[in-house]
Amino acid sequence: MQELTHWIDGRAAAGTSNRFGDIYNPATGEVQARIPLASRTEVDAVIAAAAAAQPAWAATNPQRRARVLMAFVNLLNRDLDKLAEALSREHGKTLPDAKGDIQRGLEVVEFCIGAPHLLKGEFTDSAGPGIDIYSMRQPLGVVAGITPFNFPAMIPMWKFAPALACGNAFVLKPSERDPTVPLMLAELMQEAGLPDGVLQVVNGDKEAVDAILDNPTIQAVGFVGSTPIAEYIYAKGCANGKRVQCFGGAKNHMIIMPDADLDQAADALVGAGYGAAGERCMAISVAVPVGEKTADALIERLIPRIEKLRVGPYTQGDEVDYGPLVSPQAKQRVLDLIDSGVKQGADLRVDSRDFSLQGYEQGFFVGPHLFDRVTPEMEIYRQEIFGPVLSTVRANNYEEAVKLAMDNDYGNGISMFTRDGDAARDFASRINVGMIGINVPIPVPLAYYTFGGWKKSGFGDLNQHGPDAFRFYTRTKTVTARWPSGLKEGGEFHFKQLD
Ligand code: NAD
Repeated sequence: MQELTHWIDGRAAAGTSNRFGDIYNPATGEVQARIPLASRTEVDAVIAAAAAAQPAWAATNPQRRARVLMAFVNLLNRDLDKLAEALSREHGKTLPDAKGDIQRGLEVVEFCIGAPHLLKGEFTDSAGPGIDIYSMRQPLGVVAGITPFNFPAMIPMWKFAPALACGNAFVLKPSERDPTVPLMLAELMQEAGLPDGVLQVVNGDKEAVDAILDNPTIQAVGFVGSTPIAEYIYAKGCANGKRVQCFGGAKNHMIIMPDADLDQAADALVGAGYGAAGERCMAISVAVPVGEKTADALIERLIPRIEKLRVGPYTQGDEVDYGPLVSPQAKQRVLDLIDSGVKQGADLRVDSRDFSLQGYEQGFFVGPHLFDRVTPEMEIYRQEIFGPVLSTVRANNYEEAVKLAMDNDYGNGISMFTRDGDAARDFASRINVGMIGINVPIPVPLAYYTFGGWKKSGFGDLNQHGPDAFRFYTRTKTVTARWPSGLKEGGEFHFKQLD
């Protein structure tokens, strides 16, 4: 069986802990490789090597650093098909979706090519007699990223591209479910000209994560994954004095107003609810039609669309709408939640519990499900399902729909479909959610804006990518300088006013 590695000091390095995890092919259910799970000692050595490489990288001028990213973009485009195949084989998502995963990461790398501009400080000429003040943005040192399984290309790039552009060294701990693409990305960065040791990939589980959080060399940690782990990493990282940003789970609602184009809303819901088998933090998992008439008309449009969805392995290319879930545990968890929905009295309008795909009976496929008349106390509403299951919660009016979303623990994304500009503006202004779509189902901001949720979907002060990433991965230093007359008055014992 194939044995994966770490990526340390510019080369593939076998694990030495003698602990391994299984990597599945989710479409067939077979274990296709095993991954080394690093020990604390291995992680500490990886971090020490990154620290040794970082000062020379920080001293490399920002434009030269950006040129490495420019070369990396070309290599990503060259290897797009190869990367997408490796991604789909471990994750299960369709090939077009895998290419989208890579593309959305690549766009952040492109944004980071503008680092020399984004890293410029501020300058005040003659803030006092002969006195200038200027600020500069300096890298933090060695920083780390801990990333989830569901975007194994995009999220590692969201993390390491800005961190490296700022002059940091980066230690990536990708998901142990699909680490092949992160390893390939590190190899491409080396081919693009990144010096050895500046980007390290260490594979592992909780032991590796704790080693990162406890290591005093690590200055900042960026995490993306489920909310309980986000809370744990945020608390422990902050307690250890690090700068931390953690992005967690989601329960994204779509409010459908009575005046919405219901065919358009139904198409949007099917793509946003079932794409990538619902394994997206920006998936829409709750439809909130306003009024019984809207709800009945929406359900009537949704059912035939959902029944037509094509579920299958990525090897069937464009013939498939979504693939399997990532692991047998993920599949079992989703099926258990569906059962709980039925037991708690939700109306299961599309029931695929007996779904099986001929030739792929051992794969982790789950057919599409649609619930109507879900209520906020039910487990299927309270938990992030992360599967191909859409819940409908009927609201009597607009205020009730907005309150439902505002009272939800999560606040990653939300969408509203309407033709009413007043309602849309009121909604965007009042809602306590980080990313909002108006007649747009998955409102993922582009690379030059920032990405981040509110409430239990995001912990920390700054968002991912866009200008916030450059603030997160640098610290500001401010210099007050007096030229050319020098200090003439002798020592001063109070704060000087610069007038
Ligand atoms: P996860 O929380 O299980 O794992 C994420 C990372 O944390 C992995 O690298 C994993 O190795 C590590 N980890 C897991 N258990 C740990 C523990 N006990 N201690 C320390 N580290 C641990 O998440 P996942 O299943 O890989 O990803 C899916 C989740 O990520 C969903 O909840 C989804 O909504 C969320 N997500 C959020 C965003 C966002 O930007 N808000 C984006 C993508 C995914």
